[in-house]
Order: sequence, then C-alpha cells, then structure tokens
Amino acid sequence: QNQDLSQSYSLSPIGEIQSPFNEKFGIPRQPGLCNAAVGSIKLLGECNSDEAVKDLSLHSHIWILFLFHQNLKQGWKPSVRPPRLGGNEKMGVLATRSPFRPNGIGMSAVKLLGVRKSGKQWFIDVKGLDLLDGTPVVDIKPYIPYSDNIPDAQSELADTAPVNSLDVKFTSQAKNQLEALSEKAEQYPKLALLIEQVLQQDPRPSYKQNKADDKIYGILLYNLNIRWQVTNNQCDVLEIASSQ
Ligand code: SAM
Repeated sequence: QNQDLSQSYSLSPIGEIQSPFNEKFGIPRQPGLCNAAVGSIKLLGECNSDEAVKDLSLHSHIWILFLFHQNLKQGWKPSVRPPRLGGNEKMGVLATRSPFRPNGIGMSAVKLLGVRKSGKQWFIDVKGLDLLDGTPVVDIKPYIPYSDNIPDAQSELADTAPVNSLDVKFTSQAKNQLEALSEKAEQYPKLALLIEQVLQQDPRPSYKQNKADDKIYGILLYNLNIRWQVTNNQCDVLEIASSQ
C-alpha cells in the first residue's frame, strides 16, 4: 500500500567510534587507505552485551553504518563537487560518497582486529578507519565476501584508490619527538606509520596538490598537533607536539 513517505524514523546509536582523527582535515577518503588508523567501536545500550557480540569474530571484516554527525546541521544538496574532480565539476550526490547526504548515513568496511570486554564495556577493535572520533554508529554488519565482493563491478568516477602523492620525511626534531612519544605506544599506536600514511595522501585542497607550498600546515591526530610543509613532492614533518 502507498506508505506516507514523508514519515520520519528515529535512529539510536548502538556504538561510538574511537579513532585517532579529532578533526576532518586529513581523514582518508575511504576506509583501508591508512591501515595504521586503528581504533574501536565502544558499544552502547543493549548492543553492549555478550549476546549481541557473540560470533562477530567469525568475520574478518565488518561494515560500520554511521552518521556523518558533524555535517548534519549543515544539511545537504542534491549536487556536490567531488574533491577527486578537483572540486569544480558538479555531480549528483547519490553518484558520490559525499559526507553531506540526505540522511547523513555513511558506510565503511573495515578489518576486524578483535572483540574485547573491559569491565562491563564491550569494544570492537578495527583498523583502516576513515571516521572522526565520536562518530555515532547506527549498525554493524559482517562483510560477506560472496555477496559484498563484486569483482566485475566498475565505476567511472572512482575505479582506483587515490595515489600516494607525497614522499614523507621526518625532520630530526620530529624524530626526537617520536622517540619521546614511543614510551606511550599504548596511547598512540602506530603513530609514525599513521602520520606517514595520512600525509602521503596529501590532505591539502586539490588545487594545491602536486605544487610546492610555503604554508606550514597542522593536522590533529590523537591529541597531537603535527606540523608539516610541502616542498616539491616531499612532505617534511616539522614537529609533533601535544595540543593540550
Ligand atoms: N566510507 C564512508 C562512506 O563511503 O560512506 C565515508 C566516506 S567519506 C568521503 C569520508 C570522509 O567523511 C572523511 O574523509 C571525513 O572528511 C568525513 N567524516 C568522517 N567522519 C565524519 C563525521 N562523523 N561527521 C562528518 N564527516 C565525517
């Protein structure tokens, strides 16, 4: 029967993302591009239970369905300008993975590292995240290779992963700061590799890419402010300092 399609539905988060990314600048465009981006889903409500997580570890990868919560207030438009096209060409929002969408829903397939309980709290540990810390998770599903993996699928827009366009080098000051932080490996897992993988993707706006640039940039990973500069196609990591 023809439903009243103007009806709205409410969603309650079942979990919250814990990720190294505390700002959108620098987050990879898709999951799996930075496998050093390790994090967790802290389960909430009735999903924070032995029953709900049972057998999840039978799967190597999971789908995370989430809300682009930081964009919800800004709303969405039917056409967008994908960064991959230099931010000039317009495309229909449904033809893209734009983070500004009709209901703000995102989906990322990530590697499952494990399911862990600490006290009464369940965590699902994952790697290859492309999500902000604090992102609300509305569902988790197992990645099912026989149906989710479509080898002959094609896309004229995004057939290949974005290339790593920058060669990343750490200055001696940054190396010394990494050394000092290595005592806190628990708090900053895979820090050097994460900085390298994020900066290799050249987070700068497309019109600046592949160009030298005298600007010094800052990127927030965990609670660390990483300062860097691009000269030719080399990215020099200048400083790694606690942002508090
Ligand atoms: N893989 C997901 C998808 O296809 O639905 C996300 C793709 S989207 C291009 C990834 C970008 O979303 C990130 O680079 C970041 O800029 C943005 N993002 C991540 N978490 C967000 C959040 N909680 N709110 C708003 N934007 C977010």
